[in-house]
Amino acid sequence: MVHPHTELRFVNPHIGWGVFATKPIPKGTIVWALDALDQTFQPEQVAALPPYARKQLQIYAYVDGKGRHILCWDHARFFNHSCSANCLSVGYDFELAVRDIAEGEELTDDYGTLNPGEPFPCGCATTACRGHVLPDDMVRHGDLWDAAARAAFFLIRNVPQPLWDVVRDKAEIEAALAAPERLRPIHHHYRGGGIKEPMLAGG
Ligand SMILES: [Zn+2]
Repeated sequence: MVHPHTELRFVNPHIGWGVFATKPIPKGTIVWALDALDQTFQPEQVAALPPYARKQLQIYAYVDGKGRHILCWDHARFFNHSCSANCLSVGYDFELAVRDIAEGEELTDDYGTLNPGEPFPCGCATTACRGHVLPDDMVRHGDLWDAAARAAFFLIRNVPQPLWDVVRDKAEIEAALAAPERLRPIHHHYRGGGIKEPMLAGG
């Protein structure tokens, strides 16, 4: 479930739609959490889908650390990529604002954290743009992402959290807040070595 202070807006014909803040969202806010309505597809389920459905998953789903495709039911599936993303994850099923996000600003992810099946060119136009997003970007950039996400994680109790009821692993999160060495790193989401995609073979 995506944060209530967001909405879908049309960016441009090239990018399509994106998720924008309707109010300021402070650093440390949980901006998305996996919820009971999000759909999880095991690899064999993906392989059994007709090509048109696999293509939709390729566009709108992400791949978790266990190789499952996760399709968000709400406008969370329209998060766009940025090489300077303002939302990142630590090793749990939620995303944090890693900077203060202004009203009207687009919320972005780094797709390098989401196990992309294939490299793709990036035109995010930020000064941090890597030019391409690669399936193994986690190997090169994971520590940087982790540092940014950890800094936001320890602000969780300092800012309003309208999605807290949705968050899973509450006990583990509380434990990590009390003992930082227990915090799961972002690498927990990394599938490793790229993805052998049944969807790409058929789509
Ligand atoms: Zn970029």
